Amino acid sequence: MSDLTAKILGRIRDVPDYPSPGIVFKDITPLLGDHVTFAAVVDALADELDVDTVVGIEARGFILAAPVAYQAGAGFVPVRKKGKLPAAVLEESYDLEYGSAVIEVHRDAFAPGERVLIVDDVLATGGTARAAVDLVGRAGAEVVAVSVLMELGFLKGRDRLTGVDVRSLVVV
Ligand code: AMP
Repeated sequence: MSDLTAKILGRIRDVPDYPSPGIVFKDITPLLGDHVTFAAVVDALADELDVDTVVGIEARGFILAAPVAYQAGAGFVPVRKKGKLPAAVLEESYDLEYGSAVIEVHRDAFAPGERVLIVDDVLATGGTARAAVDLVGRAGAEVVAVSVLMELGFLKGRDRLTGVDVRSLVVV
């Protein structure tokens, strides 16, 4: 196990039965509060990627994606939950365990063919990342990779992202 992997695992807290019974929530706030690990995570997420723009998925994705954009010398674009962006949007719906959700991006967020990295904290079933990839593609940009801090391997989210370069700093 690498030093960074050990640090990440030691600073993500499992919160059982949140937000609903049976879910083990991966709480990244201890990691964010440790500036050494937070900086190492940002560096690792930005590593060796040549992109124009970093997309963050609301809400925890924003916290990671904005410093990754700064580090990568790229712009930042928010993908938000329905109804939060002020100008004209494109939207994408996706299934959750119970019900469905909608995410949106500004229609004019990207120049045609712009190279984009999508960042989020946790890859679980892959539904959110899949919707974000589709949304960014529809907005005219090229998704270079999806990078997450933690992948829940047992949920096989990667299987919904065939053809996408999916990178995770740790897999549990
Ligand atoms: P999914 O669409 O199932 O891959 O879920 C990914 C999204 O939900 C990400 O934006 C995560 O922040 C959040 N998420 C899903 N499961 C968890 C979990 N166990 N702990 C923390 N966040 C989660």
